[in-house]
Amino acid sequence: MPQPTTPDVSAEPQLRVAEPRDAAELAEVIHAAFGARPPLDPPSTAGNETADSVLAALAAGGGVVAEIGDRIAGVVLIGTARPGVAHWRRVSVHPDFWRHGIGTELVAAAEELAAEQGHHRVELVARREVASLVGFWQRRGYTVEPDDPDQPWYVHLAKSLPTAVWIPTTERMRELGRSLADVLAPGDLVVANGDLGAGKTTLTQGIGEGLGISETVISPTFVLSRVHRSTTGRPTLVHVDAYRLSGPDELEDLDLDATLAEAVTVVEWGAGVAEPMAEDRLHIDILRSEDGGNSRLVLVRGVGPRWAEVDLAQIVRAATPATEGQ
Ligand code: ADP
Ligand code: MG
Repeated sequence: MPQPTTPDVSAEPQLRVAEPRDAAELAEVIHAAFGARPPLDPPSTAGNETADSVLAALAAGGGVVAEIGDRIAGVVLIGTARPGVAHWRRVSVHPDFWRHGIGTELVAAAEELAAEQGHHRVELVARREVASLVGFWQRRGYTVEPDDPDQPWYVHLAKSLPTAVWIPTTERMRELGRSLADVLAPGDLVVANGDLGAGKTTLTQGIGEGLGISETVISPTFVLSRVHRSTTGRPTLVHVDAYRLSGPDELEDLDLDATLAEAVTVVEWGAGVAEPMAEDRLHIDILRSEDGGNSRLVLVRGVGPRWAEVDLAQIVRAATPATEGQ
């Protein structure tokens, strides 16, 4: 007779993409995880999942699992809410493995996979009655979205996912800027980060070209901020260098508020400084490749309602043919 084994919860969970052969075990994990919750009204439909329904979900959108030893400890199924927007389903950790941080690792892995699949945002619903759930998601960067009056028992949550692309040359970085300029509108704030020489100004030059700025966009390091008017009827570009600013207070002294509403404002070195300026922001992080070459890894992430329905992944990928990626 096989004896039930005590799970080795001290082992490191292995995160991997869910495979069709996992389906039956995943249905069991989902039943165990949802079955261990207090009874809900209306009841969760998780108990209806079968190996077949999980298999269909995996075929449609995939999923990630956390494995400990030879057991699956947790799962997240990935659905598609709308094009470019992923939807977490059946986020489950088997009760045998609760309180070991597996949920955190699962969610991080699911975010990575969904971004790789081309999603720029993820949404989910959490049961309002399970008080700890909303806090769990908020601590991981998810924001509470408006309720659906037809389903008041759900709290809607969402998070934007960064789109990552490799940009091999200076000219490609400008081209990325030009592509982003196509979707930039008056009132938009771009927060650009990356070390000295990463390419923040180069990207801003591309944005300037896209906005129809005829003068040369150079690093505003000594004047802190420059205003460039469009010659093509596009919004004005306000280009700021926050490198020498100590914090949001000093940024406020630059009176960017006066132009924010009608301009596109780009703040180099803006992380940790520019966030209070606007709820809606486009964050761009530029990292140099470790081999010291010209390649830059660029992470683009829209924050706030302004960007929720903008498919940044598509815009960024269109500017950078996959054949040139790394
Ligand atoms: P920052 O504003 O972040 O300090 P700059 O845009 O002023 O950086 O400088 C980036 C420098 O790196 C430029 O000289 C640019 O020509 C060079 N460069 C080389 N490869 C790239 C690339 N893939 N993307 C952006 N810049 C690059
Ligand atoms: Mg610069």
